[in-house]
Amino acid sequence: MSMKQIYRRIWAWFLAGALLFFAILALGGRIEGRSSLDMHSTSAWLLVIPVGCIVYAAYTSMRYWRCEYCGSALPTKLAKKCTKCGREIDYK
Ligand SMILES: [Zn+2]
Repeated sequence: MSMKQIYRRIWAWFLAGALLFFAILALGGRIEGRSSLDMHSTSAWLLVIPVGCIVYAAYTSMRYWRCEYCGSALPTKLAKKCTKCGREIDYK
């Protein structure tokens, strides 16, 4: 998997998680006929799904978003060079 694919994957999971989170918050209460979602309702349990997506994004980022030479974690934004060893990062 290339760095570009990893980057896209992290953001895809993160965005999916964030969107689902707000969608469930917005719609969850309404589906159950309440004005807002309270944390004791069934829909609140659906929040496990988006939270899972975000946790997976964070995990992927920690596990794979690393310099291929020295293995140190890279910054979130696309940096041209590794902050630790200074080698250029190939985002192909
Ligand atoms: Zn490095």
